[in-house]
Amino acid sequence: MTDTAPLFDRVAIIGIGLIGSSLARALTEYGVARSVVCADRSIDVCAKAMELGIVEMATTEIPVAMDGADLVVLCSPVGSFAEVGEAIAPHLREGMIISDVGSVKQAVLRDIGPHLPDGVHLVPGHPVAGTEHSGPEAGFASLFQGRWCILTPPPGTDAGAVEKMTALWRRIGSTVEIMEASHHDRVLAITSHLPHLIAYTIVGTASDLEETTKSEVIKFSAGGFRDFTRIAASDPVMWRDIFLNNREAVLDTLQRFTEDLTALQRAIRWGEGQQLQDHFSKTRTIRRSIIDAKQA
Ligand code: NAP
Repeated sequence: MTDTAPLFDRVAIIGIGLIGSSLARALTEYGVARSVVCADRSIDVCAKAMELGIVEMATTEIPVAMDGADLVVLCSPVGSFAEVGEAIAPHLREGMIISDVGSVKQAVLRDIGPHLPDGVHLVPGHPVAGTEHSGPEAGFASLFQGRWCILTPPPGTDAGAVEKMTALWRRIGSTVEIMEASHHDRVLAITSHLPHLIAYTIVGTASDLEETTKSEVIKFSAGGFRDFTRIAASDPVMWRDIFLNNREAVLDTLQRFTEDLTALQRAIRWGEGQQLQDHFSKTRTIRRSIIDAKQA
């Protein structure tokens, strides 16, 4: 097989929103699949996906989308995976690869794993890429370029299936890392889930304050607040599902964060300037290393 030959005959995307439509576009644009179809629970979203020319066929019926597919990728919110797992179960065929793009990974093993018979390969994935927008109009083929995609195949997964999914993500511009689902969930709790929780909290607090004190939070938002509002504009359903499905790791991380916040609070109260300055200097170097790693 040459590097440009399609890796899959027919890919079925379940849920054609921001990530699903970006993946569908990329699979076509970079020649990864001969054909890309989708299933979405909303007839309007299906119509939009067809109108935008993102997929060859769009349907509200999951079995119709799975017909002839050699790869099925779940791109709906993590909270829908148990229901989607039940819907795909009767239509699985030997040799099929089942994957997903969910932001939480242990939940995939829990919700999809039990439905898969021997000979069907589960290779969960998480592209660490996205925007605060939702829906098929928001997607674009280059979303995954230069970004990480983390694959979390359970122990014993067919090596050929893992290789094929690795090749898929590489072909559409991502760097692939393979790790255990539980490790993924702990790492993302601090790098993604906690920052979102903090942003949701700050923006909520500021909006309450603006109402009660009639202050000018929006007007002077460029002082730092504005960056949080972008994160806090992320999809509410997606983030509800992430917190409910990565509860343990998020609560552990939140506990550590609360202790560290209390230490800073104490330094401010007691006028411990050196401690504050040392802390802020340390965090500044983290920003520099993110820039050096081209992840800024
Ligand atoms: P999105 O734009 O809201 O798209 C999700 C789509 O799935 C919507 O069209 C939704 O329909 C549909 N859907 C919901 N339940 C379904 C079901 N049971 N069957 C079929 N379709 C269903 O969301 P997204 O941002 O693309 O996120 C999708 C997945 O990617 C999530 O698992 C998320 O954790 C993961 N992810 C997101 C990002 C990001 O930054 N956004 C990054 C990495 C990974 P309705 O509109 O009718 O609900």
